[in-house]
Amino acid sequence: MLKIDSLSKSYDKGKNYALQDVSFELKSGDVCAIVGESGSGKTTLVRLIAGLERPDEGSISLSGKVLSSVDQFTQPEKRKIGLVFQEYALFPHLTVLENILYGIAKQKDKKERAQEMLDLVGLSEMGGRYPHQLSGGQQQRVALARALAPNPSLLILDEPFSNLDTMLRTQLRSQVFEIIEKTGVTVLFVTHDTQDALSVADEILILQNGKVVQKDAASNLYVKPNNLYVASLFGNTVRINKDLQNAFHCPLNEECCHAIRNEKIKVNPDELTTDCDYITTAEVIKKIALGDAVQLVLKLETGEKLTVTTRDKNIADTINIGFNSKDILEFNE
Ligand code: ADP
Ligand code: MG
Repeated sequence: MLKIDSLSKSYDKGKNYALQDVSFELKSGDVCAIVGESGSGKTTLVRLIAGLERPDEGSISLSGKVLSSVDQFTQPEKRKIGLVFQEYALFPHLTVLENILYGIAKQKDKKERAQEMLDLVGLSEMGGRYPHQLSGGQQQRVALARALAPNPSLLILDEPFSNLDTMLRTQLRSQVFEIIEKTGVTVLFVTHDTQDALSVADEILILQNGKVVQKDAASNLYVKPNNLYVASLFGNTVRINKDLQNAFHCPLNEECCHAIRNEKIKVNPDELTTDCDYITTAEVIKKIALGDAVQLVLKLETGEKLTVTTRDKNIADTINIGFNSKDILEFNE
């Protein structure tokens, strides 16, 4: 459906690449999340697909038609792509209904279609209001209705919930993806929040410094991350460097990089005897209460600091910690 082939983009004539040699494909109806830290090239990729920028190299095709390549370019409004951004980008001087009508002005049944979209996003009665008379979450649903009204082949959401507080964000996220599911549209969902990505996407594509480092099913990314960056995006992860290897008496292959998720480091004495291959002693230098769990900042014999979380209530000043060799992550880098 969407085919991205060797896409590259530089804003400074090739000195730095915001996006470099990016290739991937989406099938019709896929919901794919793009995850990466700020500056990794997510918005650049979105703008290239939407036709708001031109690529330096590579091509973009949608439903078998080339939209962008070195010598071809389809105007943004001809691309059948719906966009929703972090800023709701509604026209402030137009009502909700007029905002939705804007993109389908030439359509015959535009009034019915606009009302249908309002019903779809649960704002049937709000058509006459102006954007400033709506909450942030409602404005974002209007933006979604406007993007879906022309019946796009592809819907792109670029950090659509980043302006909202946590409670609202979780609620709106499930509302928005329920609506999207009803339409069956193919979705690219850009976020820096891995929880967002894990909750809604079938597949996740990870960008690092403008390059694709992994594209995989959500469950695989956690178990088999391609590098430490990917691992760290899905939970605190520490590199098992030489000092940690010495502390835990676990010599590892020097040609690879190894890491362990903090949550895989065990504190409970029973688990230490039954479920850990490598154990060391640690001094507890700080305890931070986190509701029903406690976060411990530990200092190992080698001087390394480590953070672990436990539900055990009685923690001595010096404790044993350990991990199982099957939980070690190994990367070739
Ligand atoms: P993200 O959306 O992941 O935060 P962006 O695509 O916005 O990343 O940015 C990727 C890189 O490209 C960054 O280094 C950013 O500074 C640079 N960049 C983005 N837009 C422009 C622009 N219009 N002009 C120059 N540099 C830009
Ligand atoms: Mg961005």
